[in-house]
Amino acid sequence: MPVSFAENLNVIRQRIAAACSRAGRDESSVTLLAVSKSHPPETIHEAVAAGQLHFGENKIQEAKAKIPLSPGKARWQFIGHLQSNKVRDAVELFEMIQGVDSLAIAREISKRAEQAGKTVPILLEVNVAGEASKFGYQPPTLLAELEALNALPKIEVHGLMAIPPYSPVPEKARPYFQKLRELKTACETVLGVPLPQLSMGMSGDFEVAIEEGATIIRVGTALFGERISTIARARD
Ligand SMILES: *Cc1c(COP(=O)(O)O)cnc(C)c1O
Repeated sequence: MPVSFAENLNVIRQRIAAACSRAGRDESSVTLLAVSKSHPPETIHEAVAAGQLHFGENKIQEAKAKIPLSPGKARWQFIGHLQSNKVRDAVELFEMIQGVDSLAIAREISKRAEQAGKTVPILLEVNVAGEASKFGYQPPTLLAELEALNALPKIEVHGLMAIPPYSPVPEKARPYFQKLRELKTACETVLGVPLPQLSMGMSGDFEVAIEEGATIIRVGTALFGERISTIARARD
């Protein structure tokens, strides 16, 4: 019998609590974002019934099909790479857009948010290891563009997000998490305001991320099990 979402959630919550306690942090300072990509709306119903409310999706097409069939209580964040022709849908579907990595896309979000009569919180994605294969700002570019980003009328910069290089050894991610935290401090100095969010840590390394200050952890596999569809996996 497969393990239920509720059982996985229980285990993850205990691990979050233990990591918070090691780091001297309050559990309420960490939001568990359940990454539901490739899982169907029925699974979202099960997750909401188990008490999970925050979900992350990384494909607009998939989210557009899934969100209307999911419980109204569920709250959604976009965690993927956004193309400008998908921004209008993203603004409509999501309460936060993580993974913003250019002034051009931020401008488009602000424009579409204005048309929709809202203000959209965003997180800026940082390519913490300088990997050619990954999206995200290089830190110097981010610092140079930060004031222009923050000046856009209908977005609010809430912090940073990153996806460090994959390693089966969670400790290997620690220097990247530290780097992202330090970069957030540098951004706060530039802007002269605190940035509340640091989105880092996934199934394999969220405890290390919490020890290093993560306020949002994005957990898929450890909650939902392996992603179902091989098609979805190929598109990851
Ligand atoms: C898929 C995904 C995750 C979750 O990964 P798991 O290893 O399954 O926990 C987290 N963040 C982003 C941006 C993702 O695309």
